[in-house]
Amino acid sequence: MYIESVQLKNFRNYDSLELTFDKGTNIFYGNNAQGKTNILESLYLCGTTKSHRGSKDKEIVKFGEEEAHIRMMVNRNQINYKIDMHLRKNKAKGVAINGLPIKKASELFGVVNMVFFSPEDLNIIKNGPGERRRFLDMELCQLDKIYLKDLASYNHIVNQRNKLLKDMYVQPGLKGTLDIWDMQMVEYGRRIIEKRKRFVEELNEIIQNIHFNLTGGTENLRVIYEPSCPGQELEKTVSENRERDMRMKITSAGPHRDDLCMEVNGIDIRRYGSQGQQRTAALSLKLSEIYIVKRTIKDTPVLLLDDVLSELDSSRQTYLLDSIHDIQTMITCTGLDDFISHRFHINKIFQVVNGS
Ligand code: ATP
Ligand code: MG
Repeated sequence: MYIESVQLKNFRNYDSLELTFDKGTNIFYGNNAQGKTNILESLYLCGTTKSHRGSKDKEIVKFGEEEAHIRMMVNRNQINYKIDMHLRKNKAKGVAINGLPIKKASELFGVVNMVFFSPEDLNIIKNGPGERRRFLDMELCQLDKIYLKDLASYNHIVNQRNKLLKDMYVQPGLKGTLDIWDMQMVEYGRRIIEKRKRFVEELNEIIQNIHFNLTGGTENLRVIYEPSCPGQELEKTVSENRERDMRMKITSAGPHRDDLCMEVNGIDIRRYGSQGQQRTAALSLKLSEIYIVKRTIKDTPVLLLDDVLSELDSSRQTYLLDSIHDIQTMITCTGLDDFISHRFHINKIFQVVNGS
């Protein structure tokens, strides 16, 4: 699939903008703070309903304006789709495909699939477990509508349970209702754990090869799923933890506390890896993601690369650029030197200057 064009109105620092893209590599270059990332954000937001940087709608609407619009034209299997997004400062956003409003974000995933890659992704190994869970969830949610629903339910249940644990402190009579939340938490939690486990198995089949090649055959990378408690033990653990949860007023175990371990040649690189090792493993993770999305949707996703090239050394740049030649790619950068030195083929170049 590929994005044919985008139109923006009052989006971040853009009054009004219309861009037509190439099916291959599109480069957006310009100085800092000109609006390069904003363009990628508009595409990702319109394709997933979420900002890659977690921004709220009211932050996205141009300063001094009340609403913003994005229109994106997408081509998938020779069929054209028009996606309209309407963002308002204090109301929920509206999304329509070919003029028909949609109720759930997941309806977009049959039309658009995107992979966003930013410099922060290179810190995923070094950062806390929350980032690694987010990686798992972002992937699974795009690929599996049931997972997306289960995860939303699970998060809601844990929030409600935590609220109850706090309320119970002043109203001990509420204790009876805890059973219902525990039961539901176990039901949804087990499903999430099972899917994460399968996803990591699939990931390992792919990442080992990529990482081996990326490191010139010197590193064996293995991803290990570390559930905070295995699915079959969730019920027992939740019930055993109950007294402690009541004391601490928080749900201590469950998929919301899961992690991913990354091992290079048998060593846990979250703790013992060098910075370069951690970043290379993160790159392998991202390249595997592209591969898995491709395989699952039986089509190519659009790749959004925000300022990543400048963060990589020359051999990793080459590897990345070589891996993406068959995908529509939107790349932001401050200069074109990296492309020139790699003799990398560019299809279209946009210079971004102060919101135009
Ligand atoms: P860099 O190279 O530093 O990453 P960039 O070109 O990617 O820069 P963007 O992140 O796209 O820059 O931001 C461009 C400008 O948009 C910033 O100067 C920012 O202040 C401005 N901006 C952000 N949100 C809004 C908004 N809601 N309304 C108007 N301008 C905004
Ligand atoms: Mg930027």
